[in-house]
Amino acid sequence: MSLARTVLLRASRSTWLADQFRRRSFARRAIKRFMPGEDVGSALDAAASFSSAGLGSVVTALGERVSTREEAERVRAHYMEVLNAIRARGLPTHVSVKLTHLGLDVDRQLCMQSVLALAAHAAATGTMLWIDIEESHYVDATLEIYRAVRARQSRVGVCLQAYLRRTPTDLASILRVGGSVRLVKGAYAEPPEIAFPHKSDTDAAYFALAQQMLEAAKPDQPQVFGTHDLALLDRIMERARARQLTSGAWEVHMLYGIQSAAQRALAAKGVSVRCLISYGTRWFPWYVRRLAERPANMWFVLRSMVSS
Ligand SMILES: Cc1cc2nc3c(=O)[nH]c(=O)nc-3n(C[C@H](O)[C@H](O)[C@H](O)COP(=O)(O)OP(=O)(O)OC[C@H]3O[C@@H](n4cnc5c(N)ncnc54)[C@H](O)[C@@H]3O)c2cc1C
Repeated sequence: MSLARTVLLRASRSTWLADQFRRRSFARRAIKRFMPGEDVGSALDAAASFSSAGLGSVVTALGERVSTREEAERVRAHYMEVLNAIRARGLPTHVSVKLTHLGLDVDRQLCMQSVLALAAHAAATGTMLWIDIEESHYVDATLEIYRAVRARQSRVGVCLQAYLRRTPTDLASILRVGGSVRLVKGAYAEPPEIAFPHKSDTDAAYFALAQQMLEAAKPDQPQVFGTHDLALLDRIMERARARQLTSGAWEVHMLYGIQSAAQRALAAKGVSVRCLISYGTRWFPWYVRRLAERPANMWFVLRSMVSS
């Protein structure tokens, strides 16, 4: 892992820095590149314009590691309202949640009940619930909750990280129960005994895992490739075409503001593409993870500072 990435991922955990950064107008200008606005209305408006351009979307409220039941319950209630709004506006939009935002650190049972309720409401409102994956020490609990919910609700999928050494085993167990996976490379700082330290190993692992997902993909068990790596996506698309998979059986998900032209170009070619749109005021740790993925993004921050 590069020094810049390590420093940025450490900084992403600082509450002092988060507080300082959030108050600066240059920071709010810089963040616009990765999110349309802090309120859910801006996210759903962006989802509507993606829909007009032939792209689907996924929305997520920023926030993680809540420390009280009240906060966790507020997050669940918020997502229930978001699902209602998606139905009311007729948007082709899924919802993605982080389990520590729904109280995983506070009460695992409460978190599980919330995911169950949200997955049921997602199914009732004609959409789908995705579960993000966080640091490696949350993976066991996340997959335990996913499996319990998946046994009762089919419109739920879970994210897996290709950089984790354990992921081939986790993927096999999820595909066995007919689950849907969103495969990503992985965004956190992890020790080398847990995650590949070299990007080339992560990229190779991603393609190997993607091939297994394509073997399992079908319209009622869609598999998702969450990456902006266009060379990797070319190889995955070639395999999908060779297997004659329909586009509903697999999708490409990318983040708002990254590879935007490629998102539109893939959709124009008939690939099912969704843009993941984040919103909320607690954007600091998430934003710094985006900087860490591409330290050159720091130039945008510096430029926003200079022009303030
Ligand atoms: C839909 C989606 C959901 C995700 N959910 C999770 C999750 O739940 N848990 C988790 O750990 N991680 C998650 N991630 C983040 C993921 O783990 C990676 O950190 C991130 O996607 C960067 O890796 P990459 O696959 O795009 O490949 P890379 O090889 O890192 O990037 C490929 C190319 O994409 C462009 N690019 C990538 N990142 C950026 C950026 N930040 N800014 C500008 N350009 C960029 C660059 O051109 C780069 O060369 C998610 C990513 C996506 C797309």
